[in-house]
Amino acid sequence: MERFIRNDQYNEISNQAQILLNGYSTVNDLNVLHALRGLVKDKVNGLFTDLTVSQEEMLSKVEEVKDSEQAEDFLLGLEPYILPFPPMTEAKLKKLFPKVKKLKMPDLSELNETNLTYLGWNDYGQERKYLVVERDGKLTGLKGRFTPSNKKGICAICHSFSEIGMFMSESKKSQQGTYVNRGNYICQDSVVCNTQVKSLERLHDFQERMKS
Ligand SMILES: [Zn+2]
Repeated sequence: MERFIRNDQYNEISNQAQILLNGYSTVNDLNVLHALRGLVKDKVNGLFTDLTVSQEEMLSKVEEVKDSEQAEDFLLGLEPYILPFPPMTEAKLKKLFPKVKKLKMPDLSELNETNLTYLGWNDYGQERKYLVVERDGKLTGLKGRFTPSNKKGICAICHSFSEIGMFMSESKKSQQGTYVNRGNYICQDSVVCNTQVKSLERLHDFQERMKS
């Protein structure tokens, strides 16, 4: 079977398994649990279009999860089918940010591509944050000023309650020749953000708002 699960889908499947576990620990009514199993299974299958029979069989096993050990086994079984983020090299990154003179590189050796919906890293010295987003096979680099807010809030990309900061895209020239700044609060730690992102919609909206 080929890889077919995106990182954000994997996170949502993991979230659904957790919802089921929470059900088992708080609900005693068997009918309610039966209904919850069905909901979780539908939600997981609904993340995908055009599943093959064997893919659907594998994902449907989510409804059999009853304790955290089973959840872990189920999720481990999905890992070989996660689509990785395209492999990155320093040369590739430099090409994505051609105007940045001294681009601080992320630690590429530490990257786990199957846990990435997007690649993001900080240059705290320069108060910058860099993001690489893949959409329809095309990679885009986004750069911005980044100011940690030192408090928790909702991230515009993963929509989780998280340590966030203000990402302000580089001043962008409007048609009238004036400069416009666009800002959004996003996770300070993009590795954490990637474990929390459960759909691509907000990432793509963010990308549209920030691109210069
Ligand atoms: Zn986030």
